[in-house]
Amino acid sequence: MIIVGLTGGIGSGKTTISKHLESFGIPVYIADKEAKALMNRSKVIKRKLIKLFGKSAYKDEALNRPYLASKIFDDKALLEKMNAIVHPKVASHFKRWLKKQKAPYVIKEAAVIFENHLENQYNYIITVVADENLRIERVMKRDDTSKEKVESIISNQLSDEEKIKKSNFVIVNNDLDIAKRQVEKIHHQLLKISDQ
Ligand code: ATP
Repeated sequence: MIIVGLTGGIGSGKTTISKHLESFGIPVYIADKEAKALMNRSKVIKRKLIKLFGKSAYKDEALNRPYLASKIFDDKALLEKMNAIVHPKVASHFKRWLKKQKAPYVIKEAAVIFENHLENQYNYIITVVADENLRIERVMKRDDTSKEKVESIISNQLSDEEKIKKSNFVIVNNDLDIAKRQVEKIHHQLLKISDQ
């Protein structure tokens, strides 16, 4: 089974593009969404996160995301410790999910691939890019957040140029219709590759 990574900076449109690929019958695994779900449902993760962050890691049985986000935002060591708890669980969940899929290829959407040097987990990688001002506007609207907050997240991520260099395919998502045409083209290329 061909595993295609789909990555890109905040607000570039990863999930939007994933949904379009899903409409062609391609299975999509959204790693960040599954990680959050596992952080809520896995007793082992819960126990370890409470040990790492204290009882405030959960509020009314649910993951206290704002608390965790505030703790890890400028503490790389803590973020790495959290990832060491969560990532292996997501990896084994993905493996089980993958076994059940019957498609020429699957998409795994992940915000961080290159940052964590995980490119060898994928056969191909698609990077979604969009102009920074558009990304800021979109995220401000979607998350009801400030320009400064989005800018500080962007400045913590690897640049588009770096990601493009390491990718097999790039989708420029400034205009949705144009981006959808690029997605269709890539989809057909991947079908051809998987048929060989
Ligand atoms: P994140 O990194 O935060 O998870 P993402 O890369 O998955 O974000 P999306 O959630 O797909 O990005 O898109 C961000 C917002 O921008 C969403 O509200 C989405 O509807 C909107 N959006 C995405 N692409 C376009 C586009 N081409 N034109 C207008 N709005 C768009």
